[in-house]
Amino acid sequence: MKIAFIGLGNMGGGMAANLVKAGHEVNAFDLSAEALARSKEQGCTPCTTVREAVQGVDAVVSMLPNGKIVETVYTAEVIAGAPASALLLDCSTIDVETARRVASAATVAGFAMVDAPVSGGIAAANGGTLTFMVGGNSSAFKRAEPILFAMGKAVIHAGSSGAGQAAKICNNMILGATMIATCEAFVMAKKLGLDPQTFFDISSKASGQSWSMTSYCPLPGVGPQSPADNDYQGGFATNLMLKDLLLAMEAAKQAGALVPMGARAAELYQEFADLGQGNVDFSGIVRMLE
Ligand code: NAD
Repeated sequence: MKIAFIGLGNMGGGMAANLVKAGHEVNAFDLSAEALARSKEQGCTPCTTVREAVQGVDAVVSMLPNGKIVETVYTAEVIAGAPASALLLDCSTIDVETARRVASAATVAGFAMVDAPVSGGIAAANGGTLTFMVGGNSSAFKRAEPILFAMGKAVIHAGSSGAGQAAKICNNMILGATMIATCEAFVMAKKLGLDPQTFFDISSKASGQSWSMTSYCPLPGVGPQSPADNDYQGGFATNLMLKDLLLAMEAAKQAGALVPMGARAAELYQEFADLGQGNVDFSGIVRMLE
């Protein structure tokens, strides 16, 4: 397949390389010359504009920073330049409303489009082990599946347009809140004289268990290897967790959903980012609670 890939940053760079490895011909575009040069080394064809990248392609994949950029790129460039037979796949994390608006503009112009945000960080993007949550109709999902499987280990149909983004922010709202709950429990356990390893051994097999505890333990030397063992470097940056929580708060307001735990998690991550910790892994918030 001939595929245009737009947005070759931390995530998109590895994803585009995996499409090449799967045998696709990939036209790459990014505003950064450095990212374009890297994509060339990985076997993509660098292009100087979006219009050039999308000409004559079978599919367009994007991995961009936010909804505003996604909307501009699709409505001003992709929809006008790509053949209407091309499938459009936006993998960026953006707000549900924008995702629906862009998909609807694409549909009006005759395109099939899915929102397909990912779970998994840079390592999963490089390793081709992302999980995709897909919003769009069944026939668009069926067309998207083989393309997404070249970049991931799981591809799940979440529902109609925007449902992928809805699943992503609801999931990450659980993650933000459980990470903070896990951190504060470890801090309190220590203050009550419990050994952290002993508390982990108990709670990881009891009802306090969660992914934040057993797969991503926020304390160094406890549980499996995690960013805590690397001074909270790498992993999932606090700024990205905050971005997802703010998207969740916006969606909750629009949907009239009551989300007091998510709202508190957003406030605490904002506080942590304001301390200059935005680039630190999100489990590093344990230091603020300490
Ligand atoms: P990034 O900033 O590293 O990459 C974004 C890229 O888009 C940059 O290379 C930038 O130059 C490019 N770009 C910006 N505007 C553009 C435009 N108009 N045309 C073409 N290229 C443009 O960000 P990232 O970490 O790769 O994240 C991308 C998306 O993936 C975000 O929506 C993020 O929320 C989501 N995400 C990231 C992670 C993660 O761990 N990094 C995990 C899950 C989801």
